[in-house]
Amino acid sequence: EKEALKVLKDAKSVTTDGHEVELAGNIGTPKDVEGVLNNGGEGVGLYRTEFLYMDSELDFPSEDEQFEAYKTVLEGMGGKKVVVRTLDIGGDKKLPYFTFPEEMNPFLGYRAIRLCLDRTDIFRTQLRALIRASVYGKLCIMFPMIATLDEFRQAKALFEEEKAKLISEGVAVSDHIEVGMMVEIPAAAVLADQFAKEADFFSIGTNDLIQYSMAADRMSEKVSYLYQPLNPSILRLVKMTIDGAHKEGKWVGMCGEMAGDELAAPVLLGLGLDEFSMSASSILRTRKMIRSLSKQEMEVMAEKALQCSNIKEVTELVKNSLK
Ligand code: PEP
Ligand code: MG
Repeated sequence: EKEALKVLKDAKSVTTDGHEVELAGNIGTPKDVEGVLNNGGEGVGLYRTEFLYMDSELDFPSEDEQFEAYKTVLEGMGGKKVVVRTLDIGGDKKLPYFTFPEEMNPFLGYRAIRLCLDRTDIFRTQLRALIRASVYGKLCIMFPMIATLDEFRQAKALFEEEKAKLISEGVAVSDHIEVGMMVEIPAAAVLADQFAKEADFFSIGTNDLIQYSMAADRMSEKVSYLYQPLNPSILRLVKMTIDGAHKEGKWVGMCGEMAGDELAAPVLLGLGLDEFSMSASSILRTRKMIRSLSKQEMEVMAEKALQCSNIKEVTELVKNSLK
């Protein structure tokens, strides 16, 4: 079956009625690029840069070390889009050389963009490495855990400052870098139409969006039944995010597990998601499915899903639409 799917490696991710979407891969290190390309990935939809920091033993990775990693990924993708997420540390992800504050709820605490806006020295180093690497491919940068427009503005201003500094130093930089954000906090999903006026794109992080919407720790077995990608409340947040972006002419991806979920993909297609980013091994089977679906039919189905009251109803609806 794996072999049968390989014929779709260079095929378009296009529906029966001619609507094209983009299927991308999630990566953690430059070594993962090969797997994305071998599985027909049309881009990298999420490069989790925290592994660069977690693999470093004594100190934060230097600007040059980071530059090399980002350059390798951008060059490796040969001009295909690469979405790099800035440092998403904290929560469950710790560093051997950095002391995090003691907190009752680390997942609700000092992490990701919150830490980066506090420790701008760490953040600026990463931004410089990224901007320097931008000439080697098609770079999109996104900030994790954005809750307020003010945070997005602060992060983007630091990016613009470092970009201007590099230019004045005579360093070559791309003038096509897109600057977007993850939508993984419900507050950002609800206010997506406002964020979309300033962000170039969104990528929906459903692993956290579901955790925070359901108030259910994603690491806890006991409450794992609340991880419900097809819950109509989650679908409505996804819809608000996509509609808010499209109103401003911006694109929306999804890089959480939900993007590669076989029952979720038809609904996401119907809601108008532009880019699906997943583990490389899921790309080809998702492409096969997309190529068997009608966008227009999935729109009708998704509209009904939004009116359901629980996951059982949505699941039945999706299964019927796939028959
Ligand atoms: C997410 O939250 O859905 C996501 C893609 O990021 P991570 O799983 O790294 O938190
Ligand atoms: Mg996340």
